[in-house]
Amino acid sequence: MTMLETRSQALVDSAGQQAAEESQESMVQLRSVTKYFANVAAVDGIDLDVAEGEVLTLLGPSGCGKSTTLRCITGSLEIDAGTIQIGGKDVTRVPTHGRHIGLVFQNFALFPHMTVTENVAFPLKVRRVAKHEIRSRVAQALELVQLGQLGKRLPRELSGGQQQRVGLARAIVYRPRVVLFDEPLSNLDAMLRREMRYEIRRLCDELGFTAIYVTHDQEEALALSDRIAVMKDGIIHQIGAPDEIYASPRTLFVAQFLGNPNRNAGTLTELRADEATVRIGTTTVETPLPLDEIALGSDVVLVVRPEVVRIANSAEQTRVNMWEARISAMSFLGERREYVLTIDEGFELRAYLPPDVGHALGDVVRVEVPIAECRVYPGASASVEDS
Ligand code: ATP
Repeated sequence: MTMLETRSQALVDSAGQQAAEESQESMVQLRSVTKYFANVAAVDGIDLDVAEGEVLTLLGPSGCGKSTTLRCITGSLEIDAGTIQIGGKDVTRVPTHGRHIGLVFQNFALFPHMTVTENVAFPLKVRRVAKHEIRSRVAQALELVQLGQLGKRLPRELSGGQQQRVGLARAIVYRPRVVLFDEPLSNLDAMLRREMRYEIRRLCDELGFTAIYVTHDQEEALALSDRIAVMKDGIIHQIGAPDEIYASPRTLFVAQFLGNPNRNAGTLTELRADEATVRIGTTTVETPLPLDEIALGSDVVLVVRPEVVRIANSAEQTRVNMWEARISAMSFLGERREYVLTIDEGFELRAYLPPDVGHALGDVVRVEVPIAECRVYPGASASVEDS
């Protein structure tokens, strides 16, 4: 077995062991879940384990299958293959109302003719909960979302953020063990979105329910999730803690979907015991070994996050991965400056630097990228241009 094969096997072994451990304590478990629309698999054999109390986000571009996955879990779509368990019980053929999950939608989905109190009371009424119990639980839920004073208003008398708080209160009022969120903040403006995502996380922590959250907003996913599952074309590309996925993207797609990294097309020219060399134009870049087995001479994409690119000061000795570069563009963005550094023909790096770093357009500087911060993926220049 080659060293790369050994590494890949170790990854497979640890993923298998992790899945086995997770399945013993999963609140929500999907096995080989598949959903077709016409002949296209919108969800293509997904396995997923969400632990009790965990906030898991399905993140991906439009059309990747995240809402369909959520609708399979709610039971509003019947799946074509696979199984779904909630709280250890097989619910694959159980209708939505028997799954005991709370739902929070993008469009709030409030009843327009009912007051806030009546909207929140609704799930309890249909479950025939006693009147006094409804009163106290609704009051408690409204307090939790900080709407205690607005119970008598109609939805149209509320702001978007307040309406979504009512949606939240209605989802949690019957104390479901699992709450599903389908892009709940996408109809709110940027500032409110930021405020509400902290509110949602606080509610998850205070009430301890398991949450599955769908968004295409990477910042939202990074900020509120315990783990993120990055999806594309109906499959999960990678699942893990936000910092882990951000630092070690498994594929080029994950790398470019999280953050806005530099991507440069090059050629793999050397593989050593634990490092590799990539050539871009006439520049050589030392990198860690690629995760995938890549043949020498293949086209690759070098990924470097802008925040790890630094400009060396003049007293520093030239080291590995330190190159001369010309500042070819510069913009001031308040909390930082963004520089475009041209190192070679076809080799440019964007760098985020503190706003007080005073270089001028056209200056020649030395830039450094630590070896450990470079990532190499298979792919030709087309995969850089497509992204
Ligand atoms: P978005 O962020 O735009 O909502 P998404 O990741 O949630 O996207 P889905 O809504 O799950 O994506 O759609 C996945 C794929 O399934 C897409 O190609 C979509 O066109 C298709 N699809 C979804 N619902 C239906 C439907 N009812 N009939 C036919 N095709 C559908």
